[in-house]
Amino acid sequence: LSNLGTEQLREKDRSFVFHPSTHLAKHSRGETPNRIMAGAEGVYIWDTEGRKSLDGFGGLYCVNMGYGCTEIAEAIARQAHELPFAHVYASQGTEPVALLAEAVVEYFGQNMRRVFFGLSGSDANETNIKLVWYYNNILGRPEKKKIISRHRGYHGSGLVTGSLTGLAFFHNFFDLPLDLVRHTTTPHHYRQAHDGESEQAFSERCADELEALILAEGPETVAAFIGEPVLGTGGIVPPPKGYWTAIHGVLDKYDILLIADEVVCGFGRTGEKFGSHLYGMRPDFVTIAKGLSSAYLPISGSIIGDRVWSVLEQGTEKHGALGHGWTYSGHTLCAAAALANIRLLKERNILEHVRDVGPYWHARMNAELAGHPIVGEVRGVGILSAVELMRDPKQRIPFEPDLQVGVRIAAALFENGVIGRAMPHGDILGFAPPLIITRKEIDIIVDATAKSVETTY
Ligand code: PLP
Repeated sequence: LSNLGTEQLREKDRSFVFHPSTHLAKHSRGETPNRIMAGAEGVYIWDTEGRKSLDGFGGLYCVNMGYGCTEIAEAIARQAHELPFAHVYASQGTEPVALLAEAVVEYFGQNMRRVFFGLSGSDANETNIKLVWYYNNILGRPEKKKIISRHRGYHGSGLVTGSLTGLAFFHNFFDLPLDLVRHTTTPHHYRQAHDGESEQAFSERCADELEALILAEGPETVAAFIGEPVLGTGGIVPPPKGYWTAIHGVLDKYDILLIADEVVCGFGRTGEKFGSHLYGMRPDFVTIAKGLSSAYLPISGSIIGDRVWSVLEQGTEKHGALGHGWTYSGHTLCAAAALANIRLLKERNILEHVRDVGPYWHARMNAELAGHPIVGEVRGVGILSAVELMRDPKQRIPFEPDLQVGVRIAAALFENGVIGRAMPHGDILGFAPPLIITRKEIDIIVDATAKSVETTY
């Protein structure tokens, strides 16, 4: 692209790029790390200075099949030559989109009927919320519109999706959340449970608190509940025992739709095809992105279940075509990439692989880190893992935020050759590497994490 050296590229980056989730002033002054990434292979990524890191977060939990996947790259190149783009408005179709939609609906199974494609997890959730509203308007209950999400849930950073997100960092100074959203209890047993409360009892309390919120708002005003099967950006928190069963009991009672946000959990990350399958969820909408194409190209989707689908069809019978869509809904090239990705996922038995190496990882992580004087909890499922750091793990007293313990340990981890993520809530180190990771590479992450925790504090 150019013959520019690292410093010249940094200079351009600092002068022209508006980075997400970044301290803008520090970046302009050159006080942020500002690595310029240049290449990658398998689970490793390196920058223009040749510094190679084991990518323990798979980009942003998205490069599930790993870097350098020739089959996906070739599928993209073939499709780019043949037909890079044809829109799918007003019933026009393409081969990659038709094949991908079938593959996705079949991969989820259950009662799923159609897929609406977008480009990001955020836009897929925007679509879901619009369709929830359309659904209730068509059913003649226009007051049933509120959406309930969880504190510490993450569903994107648009106007509606940023409101669904239950993390203050994404609300502050943006006038969010919008009034259509309510937040309920975070299902994090270690942090939220009362002394001596079992996981099951805690799950039932979460459901009771959800029910109390619904009753306070008026069940006739509450349209949908959205949740990630495993809470992701809020701290990588698998649900406590019985949680989703208890939540379903409440949603069914008040005729409230369920949106399973599978942007992180979908396509094998938990060792099942979807997190919904692992936890017995029966969603009406399933949000997918990231692992759908392993990030080779941006693509997302809303998988729609039959009770919503039949109402959408009825709506168009009465009122004509549905006025929703993006130019790049069902982008031909992105669909070709996703199709190649799903084929590989099956051919390479990735689910079996995750079920094999996941438990190994969690056992090793626990052996090295659980019980350390500043480790409150080591948790995870499949290829998702987190270490929660606490000043006093037994009393559950966190470190003072100013100490930036999580950020400093993540920086040490980087010096030790591994990229982990300091999650945006509390001092939590998160890991979500490519699903193809081997036991040997897991050892590298675990050893580097133990060393970084030990030497930083
Ligand atoms: N939903 C979940 C569960 C996510 O983790 C994310 C992103 O991390 C999103 C939605 C938003 O996806 P995007 O960043 O592609 O808009």
